[in-house]
Amino acid sequence: MELTFLGTSAGTPTRARNVTGLALQHGGPRQWYLIDCGEGTQHQLLRTRLSVMQLRAIFITHVHGDHTFGLPGLLTSASMSGRTEPLPLIGPPQLQPFIEAALANTDSSLGFELSFINAESADFRWQDDAVRVTSFPLSHRVPCHAFRFEETRLERKLLTDRLEADGIEAGPDWGRLQKGQDIRLPDGRLACVDDYTTIPRSPRKVVVAGDNDTPELLTDACRDVHLLVHEATYTQDVADRVGPWPQHSSARQVAGFAEAAQLPNLILTHFSSRYQFGGNRGPVIGDIAAEARQAYSGNLHLARDFQRYRLNQDLTLIEIDE
Ligand SMILES: [Zn+2]
Repeated sequence: MELTFLGTSAGTPTRARNVTGLALQHGGPRQWYLIDCGEGTQHQLLRTRLSVMQLRAIFITHVHGDHTFGLPGLLTSASMSGRTEPLPLIGPPQLQPFIEAALANTDSSLGFELSFINAESADFRWQDDAVRVTSFPLSHRVPCHAFRFEETRLERKLLTDRLEADGIEAGPDWGRLQKGQDIRLPDGRLACVDDYTTIPRSPRKVVVAGDNDTPELLTDACRDVHLLVHEATYTQDVADRVGPWPQHSSARQVAGFAEAAQLPNLILTHFSSRYQFGGNRGPVIGDIAAEARQAYSGNLHLARDFQRYRLNQDLTLIEIDE
């Protein structure tokens, strides 16, 4: 499972950071999912190896423009690039009138089917052949959700001793068992896949949260999760000065939650545009990192645009530099 940050700035872009967009790669070669689509996301994509042709679904956490204004351009560009594969657009119900109005008022159309799926419905679940996705409500100025991605289709290991002991010989049947299928033996017996194979590792689970002022709402979502991606718009002193209205989290809040929830990996993103990477004028991203480190002892990262991370099968998270 790989993550590529396409934008890490809150509200407005800066010269170094675009507004929110995150690519999650998993499944087939170059297959990926987009979570949030701030303005300019399609330009950011041009600087990666990701293609809209292999995009499997788009997830939108909430309707604010810094998470959605990139959709009309990205969708129409995908169409102009020749995409015909249907595309699920998963998020708040307002996405449908927003996209339909944008298309209808600009003489635009899509050459593929866009299916709108309401992620706010109580029974929301979505799944394809590689991931299973659920949503969890957060606290923000508008309805906002976190998405939890869990990998499916784990590799099975054959229990060869047991197969041989039961007289099931190596051959196509072993292949079927490894693919997760029960098999019918020549003598009519049914051999169940769970009796002859094991899954030697746990499925990787990642929670990507939208804007949120109450990280504790993610307690259930984060149970047994290996990575949380969460906004940390400000340090606590700035959050106190700004006041509660924007309904964002400080680094201290998120880090404190991640520590209490014993999350092994935490990536912070969605930094207020007032924070720069360096220099001596104004606050820097390092201030957010330092505050988070005081409260969180796990593996902490502060995302930068185009930074890639891999959550390995052994559940370690590393930065990818190639
Ligand atoms: Zn927002």
